[in-house]
Amino acid sequence: MNIIVCVKQIPDPETPAASFKVDEAAKKVIPAQGIAPVVNPYDPQATEAALRLNEADGGGKVTVISLGPDTARDAIKHALAMGADEGILITGPEFDGIDNFQTAKALGAAIQKLGGADLVLMGRAAADWDMGVVPTGVASILGVPVVTLAKAIEKTGGALKVERVLDDGFQSVEVNTPAVVSISNEFGEPRYPQLRQIMLAAKKTVQVWGAGDLGIADQLGAGNRDLTLEALYVPKVESNVEIIEGDSPEEKARNLAQKLRAAKLI
Ligand SMILES: Cc1cc2nc3c(=O)[nH]c(=O)nc-3n(C[C@H](O)[C@H](O)[C@H](O)COP(=O)(O)OP(=O)(O)OC[C@H]3O[C@@H](n4cnc5c(N)ncnc54)[C@H](O)[C@@H]3O)c2cc1C
Repeated sequence: MNIIVCVKQIPDPETPAASFKVDEAAKKVIPAQGIAPVVNPYDPQATEAALRLNEADGGGKVTVISLGPDTARDAIKHALAMGADEGILITGPEFDGIDNFQTAKALGAAIQKLGGADLVLMGRAAADWDMGVVPTGVASILGVPVVTLAKAIEKTGGALKVERVLDDGFQSVEVNTPAVVSISNEFGEPRYPQLRQIMLAAKKTVQVWGAGDLGIADQLGAGNRDLTLEALYVPKVESNVEIIEGDSPEEKARNLAQKLRAAKLI
């Protein structure tokens, strides 16, 4: 199958809370100094799903697309090291401040520019903004069906059998291709690229496309956002700690009980 996988680069979710800063006025996350961004943890699972499908099918092609800054090349290289064939980076200043619909428009336009695909695979959500809407948006733009939260996917003739994760169980569906499927973390561990594959991936070229190449420059910019970001902030957590003194455990317990009673908590 001709499969396209969309991978996103995000701030490292392991960033210590003290290093995570938001510019409330600009409504933007300030990149943490010295902590490199990483590939969205769900997206290697989408790449893994693509590789397994084509391995079971005896061949095919996997193209990886990422929309982001130049560093998003690393997310593409990771997928190439896993075994994907080609990479496309969509980048440029026109994409600053895009919303989820504009993200879907850009990815959809890139997929159309590639001539479409039998299957588009994505992660269940990007672990930074966590909207989980881009797969549905891209499917809508391409005019193809979408199946979300897949934990298993198998080709059956001209269709795909997909097992979905529900809150309290699983659901099996069959979908005709072309389709968009988002892969859930229950899919299982993605393969770990070996050193040789990492070196080979470094030699694979990544095409770079801008808004002009996709013909969507007039749909970007703040004025074309459908979603208005009203505020972005880190909630303030305040904690008051009072050490209850006393010469013995019994006295400390008595003092604590008196405090709680005075505060009408007991
Ligand atoms: C360059 C850039 C600038 C941005 N600037 C702003 C801003 O100023 N203000 C603001 O509010 N938001 C901004 N965003 C965030 C953007 O609005 C969200 O990324 C978008 O809404 C998608 O939501 P999500 O990240 O939660 O993706 P989800 O819908 O949760 O993602 C699901 C899956 O879709 C695919 N996917 C999603 N995004 C991408 C991508 N970029 N490339 C490839 N695959 C992808 C992945 O497979 C992912 O697992 C920016 C994003 C980018 C890339």
